[in-house]
Amino acid sequence: MKVLVVNCGSSSVKYTLFEMDNEKKIAWGIVECIGLLESYYRRQTAVTEEKKKSVKVASHTEAVELIINDLLDKEIGSIANIDEIDVIGHRIVHGGNRFSKSVLVTKEVKKGLKECFSIAPLHTPAHYAGILAVEKMLPGIPSVLVFDTAFHQTIPDYAYMYALPYEYYEKYHIRKYGFHGTSHNYVSQRAAAMIGKPLNELKLITAHLGNGSSITAVEKGKVIDTSMGFTPLQGVVMGSRCGDIDPAIIAYIIKIHPNYRNSEALNTLMNKESGLLGISGISGDMRSTVKAATEGNKKAKLAFEMLCYSIKKYISSYYGILNGIDGLVFTAGIGENSTAVREKICVNMHAMGIEMDTEKNNKPSSKERFVSTADSKVKIMIIPTNEELMIARESRACICMRT
Ligand code: ADP
Repeated sequence: MKVLVVNCGSSSVKYTLFEMDNEKKIAWGIVECIGLLESYYRRQTAVTEEKKKSVKVASHTEAVELIINDLLDKEIGSIANIDEIDVIGHRIVHGGNRFSKSVLVTKEVKKGLKECFSIAPLHTPAHYAGILAVEKMLPGIPSVLVFDTAFHQTIPDYAYMYALPYEYYEKYHIRKYGFHGTSHNYVSQRAAAMIGKPLNELKLITAHLGNGSSITAVEKGKVIDTSMGFTPLQGVVMGSRCGDIDPAIIAYIIKIHPNYRNSEALNTLMNKESGLLGISGISGDMRSTVKAATEGNKKAKLAFEMLCYSIKKYISSYYGILNGIDGLVFTAGIGENSTAVREKICVNMHAMGIEMDTEKNNKPSSKERFVSTADSKVKIMIIPTNEELMIARESRACICMRT
């Protein structure tokens, strides 16, 4: 069985074609900078090196057309006929209160997704355009939507509610939804395999640390709480997002600052101009921040320390909520690669049984591995995430349930 995973971001379309019999990638790539003067297309297959070229791509529809034509190309393609694809899995960032698990695309589902536009305005319209483009290019092949919010559906009401008047929940569906669910789900399963115990016997904290970051408490395979909220802005300090702040600051800024009288300007401030970037004034990228801090830049050092401290605070609070943990997982760009961030977080946590082996932590590797000491009560793990594979598995499961 072959599954095509499609991930339409605000200005990019990523894809991976999987052979599910062995869960191996056949072809994968990305079209970036859609709608700009110059777009880029990078593609690779299991048997060819990565190739990059400039392209002119004005919309998500054009990007999907480019990708499918490429997959079907007689010389460089990976399939001879569209019927070789059994199902398409679409990554969807926000399911709102409408979607609690993966669904097969129908007219009704598309209508429901349209109603989620306002809740994730950067992403959902792009997802929707991608779904329509795939339908046009691959008629008759079923599509499945896999939601980043779905894994967090088990969070209890006392954890997902905000203490605003109840009608804000009833009327406007304002509650914690949580994000990166597909990643947290994948690394939880891998952590159980690494520890060698069933997931339903384990208590885990998973830290997905990328440009956007979230920490999740997982008990017996079910999410108990997660750091992101109604949107992916809540929680820890991120690349260019502020994470948790006193909400009264917003009302205060509106009052005192002439530039911030509308929600768009405030959203830009909190999502795109804050976090590492806002504090350091240099970059939202962790590598640049660490480099600048090492070279003596005080604001970069402060930004780094703030980010690590905020993560440590969430880990400690979830440790308490779970009444101890078996494993702590680091994943995504920073979690998988930044020795400095992992060390800063794990230092002085031995009271919780979290003891890092700094030598193991410093060893570069792209494989899943333990970086805790032999005596550490809590296993510290680095697990490269694989959201695409998880989406492919979900899509296959959806199709198998139907037949
Ligand atoms: P996104 O949330 O956009 O998917 P990623 O998971 O790719 O983000 O993570 C991007 C972050 O990972 C950036 O801050 C980048 O600096 C950081 N990162 C990537 N590689 C390294 C590395 N070798 N060392 C430190 N940080 C890294």
